[in-house]
Amino acid sequence: MERPSPFRVGDIEIYWLSGGDFRLDGGAMFGVVPKALWQKRYPVDGGNCIPMCNDPLLVRTPDNLIVIDTGLGNKLSEKQKRNLQVASSWDIPRQLEQLGVTREDVELVVLTHGDFDHAGGIEMFNSGGERELTFPRATHIFQEMEWQDISNPKGRAKATYLAENFDLLRHAGHYRLVAGNLELCPGIAVRHTGGHTRGHQLIQISSRGESAIHLGDLCPTHGHTNPLWVMAYDNFPLEAIEQKNDLLKQCARDNSWITFYHDPFIRAIRLNGDGRIVASRPAPMVKRRMAAEGCGLLPETIRVH
Ligand SMILES: [Zn+2]
Repeated sequence: MERPSPFRVGDIEIYWLSGGDFRLDGGAMFGVVPKALWQKRYPVDGGNCIPMCNDPLLVRTPDNLIVIDTGLGNKLSEKQKRNLQVASSWDIPRQLEQLGVTREDVELVVLTHGDFDHAGGIEMFNSGGERELTFPRATHIFQEMEWQDISNPKGRAKATYLAENFDLLRHAGHYRLVAGNLELCPGIAVRHTGGHTRGHQLIQISSRGESAIHLGDLCPTHGHTNPLWVMAYDNFPLEAIEQKNDLLKQCARDNSWITFYHDPFIRAIRLNGDGRIVASRPAPMVKRRMAAEGCGLLPETIRVH
């Protein structure tokens, strides 16, 4: 099969992996934003849901292989799949093969946070139906605060920090906790943001004067690059707005790409100082078409600017 072409940031290559698609309530995704505004960008179905992907980034630097977040995984029950309207399966091992690498080659897995749609692929069912670490040799990077909350979930976090995503990792000790900001390897750094969860972190990718920032669930889709468009899922929405105000200004100043995990239509954009999109990398046509199908809209009708 033909290899997909990478998205390049200097000498660093980025590929989006298939972490599974699902549908979430549009109102929950856009919080207090009126439906009349968000539905112009995201086609809504009869159940008020919008299509979302959960696509991890495979980042290849000249020296290191890194995965950012891990998708839905293959451990969801039939009931969970039905509730989440999972439309396509998690397919990361096969996709890595297509890219000429193996699960064992991945050295670092960076988790923006511990919600099941980001951490579900840390552990997988193998062909024998047993659970194993998807990336058995990788060190998994979390913010210390996030790991504390994963280890002792309270309130609504109990429904999203699922023990089955972390048990083997905890037992194997293949994780490293960061308090704040840290360069993990040349060109890859993490920074604590909070906002979505208490211990949420972003990933900064830099090479040869170019850069990209992966804002995780601070900017799940390109719609959320309006700093005031935050999710009802955000635990600290005012903090998310404040963080985005600063970070998006910084991205415009540095001409930095902003990459997305949940957006089925756009993979990455650049903004100018007025918050307008000046460059974009669309998702593959097949993905856009699939996402729009359930809503009866063709991708061509979706306004992205
Ligand atoms: Zn998410």
